[in-house]
Amino acid sequence: MTRRLYYEDEYLGQFDATVRECRPKSEGKWIVLLDQTAFFPEGGGQWPDLGTLGGANVLDVHERNGEVEHLVDAELTPGVQVHGCIDWERRFSVMQQHSGEHIFSGLVHSRFGYDNVGFHIGSEAVTMDFNGEITEKEAAEIELAANRVIYSNVPIEHFIPDEETRQTLEYRSKKEIEGDLRIVRIPGADTCACCGTHLRRTGEIGQIRLLGVQKYKSGVRVSILCGLRALMAERQVQAEMEKVHRLLSSRPENCAAVVKQLLDERKDLQYQNGQMAMQFFERQAQEEQGQAVRVVHCDALTGDGVARAAGKLSEGAELALVTGGAGDDVMFALCSGQMDVRPLTRAFCQAFSGKGGGKPDMTQGKIRRMETETLRKWLQENR
Ligand SMILES: [Zn+2]
Repeated sequence: MTRRLYYEDEYLGQFDATVRECRPKSEGKWIVLLDQTAFFPEGGGQWPDLGTLGGANVLDVHERNGEVEHLVDAELTPGVQVHGCIDWERRFSVMQQHSGEHIFSGLVHSRFGYDNVGFHIGSEAVTMDFNGEITEKEAAEIELAANRVIYSNVPIEHFIPDEETRQTLEYRSKKEIEGDLRIVRIPGADTCACCGTHLRRTGEIGQIRLLGVQKYKSGVRVSILCGLRALMAERQVQAEMEKVHRLLSSRPENCAAVVKQLLDERKDLQYQNGQMAMQFFERQAQEEQGQAVRVVHCDALTGDGVARAAGKLSEGAELALVTGGAGDDVMFALCSGQMDVRPLTRAFCQAFSGKGGGKPDMTQGKIRRMETETLRKWLQENR
């Protein structure tokens, strides 16, 4: 069995050990067993440690049959002593996220009684799934309380309770645990069964930042970031906001008002654009008067405008087609008060690489952009 140095000293970043076994795993990869290790194997939502072992890179660490297996990219010789070096920046960040998660989950548990049923350290955020719903406002209150626990800088304790204590101790647990029960306790925040590594004091977490709350299964998924990762994410958001402020030439405090004004202006312009498109359409429609098959194209018509225009154009006509849009594909609406246009639409779409459908008196869809006269000729021949 490997001696777990990470439980004896969670801050051990370097150590010496003897190689007990080294067996090939796949092309260029070996599995190494040591007499002792400070490399934490993946477990309980905590990432495995990476780093170097002798002259090899440690690519992954797993626990199997009570052993800690190090996946490395160079062969090591059994019996030889090697120096292990853990990627400390990564491990410390993981401990910040993990310790922060304990505080947040512990506070949710004591206030709402919900359990954390899924914990994941992702590349974007740390997520916790709770088996009950909390609102964004409640999550923000927990965020504040959690940060107060950080500022109080209380020690994070570990202990293995004796059988008697175990019977009466109240703790959070993800599953029934057999054998030694390792408890992590953060006074005022959490008591939980956990086999991960944690910081010595809450102050080292630095900060917990709530990113969001989403409905998930029968509860919620809460996303947070802790420590330096929270700072880095904040910087990214700030950099984006600065770009927005520069684009808007606005000060941060009235940025929302400027965006609102722009959106209102956009809405007005869209309305004016729609009006002009309809005016243009009506002039075109005038010229179609008297024709049995009427066809009008208008670049500025989109969406509902195309259907409305086709409805108008069809008054007194056998068949009316309106196409709209400025791209290579245009929207169309085919309309008739006298015939079911659906069979014709199928052939029409086939002829002009499009697709569409609808009701007997009107179909809508998209086709390749075509000359108006080409479309008219086709409709006259195929109606
Ligand atoms: Zn833990």
